[in-house]
Amino acid sequence: MKTASALRELRDLRNTLKGTLGLVPTMGYLHEGHLSLVRRSKAECDHTAASIFVNPTQFGPSEDLSRYPRDMPRDLALLEAEGVDLVWTPTPDVVYPPDFQTWITVEKVSQPLEGAHRQGHFRGVATVVAKLFNAFTPDRAYFGQKDAQQVVVIRQMARDLNFPLEIVVCPTVREDDGLALSSRNAYLKPDERKAATVLYRALICAQEAFEAGERDAGRLRAIMSSTIAAEPLAREDYVSVAGPETLAELDSVERGALFSIAVRIGATRLIDNFLLETSNSKSQTFNGDE
Ligand code: AMP
Repeated sequence: MKTASALRELRDLRNTLKGTLGLVPTMGYLHEGHLSLVRRSKAECDHTAASIFVNPTQFGPSEDLSRYPRDMPRDLALLEAEGVDLVWTPTPDVVYPPDFQTWITVEKVSQPLEGAHRQGHFRGVATVVAKLFNAFTPDRAYFGQKDAQQVVVIRQMARDLNFPLEIVVCPTVREDDGLALSSRNAYLKPDERKAATVLYRALICAQEAFEAGERDAGRLRAIMSSTIAAEPLAREDYVSVAGPETLAELDSVERGALFSIAVRIGATRLIDNFLLETSNSKSQTFNGDE
């Protein structure tokens, strides 16, 4: 496995890779969710690359940038064990040199949900992902359904800016009790870790109500809210029942809808979502060059 921190070095190493390249962008502190993306890329591409970069521009001023968990030696060992070919570990000044002043704003789909609660978050995400696409020129890029809105924003950006690559979305990997794996789970104290299953429980309650025939989005949101309210350590940021592409809130719900929630457990903010299965929901890829 080759690693690079300078951009020139990365480009030189990338140019030695012939055949198709899959890219897995990450902020490190890797877990099985990240590794599931790596494995999917390994299965579908001739070569697999990853980036480890805690992107400062997607954190708000009151967010957890300085305490975001990091363990570069462990991350590199995990990627090497998976057979990754190339890893980029830039420092912030490599990605954002002095006098950096070009930003990518994806408009409508960045506004609700996470965008409404994390000012500037998706501007940082879209900008860094565009830079990663330019640096690696991958044939496919792998993202987790865990960050559902991020997928929508990046698809829109890839389409609007004609990035010639395929966006592949991989299912959310969960702990046995349903908690979605996240680097931020490391912040949770033992009682908070137990309470954190409330996100999954709320989503399951809403899904069960839908399967039992409930089609009123307001009532489905209320079911999620009351599940969260019943957990003493949890505080709701938002619950949403929205269209999977526009992310606009729905009045009445059909298959394919996106249920998503953001909850604070103590000082830790967690998100999760379910995409209600449709009969043709297998088509989870998008080619940005179409
Ligand atoms: P992050 O390091 O949190 O920026 O995540 C890097 C990539 O891994 C993103 O595409 C995430 O959506 C994805 N990811 C994070 N957690 C999970 C999970 N539990 N299951 C699947 N993918 C995940």
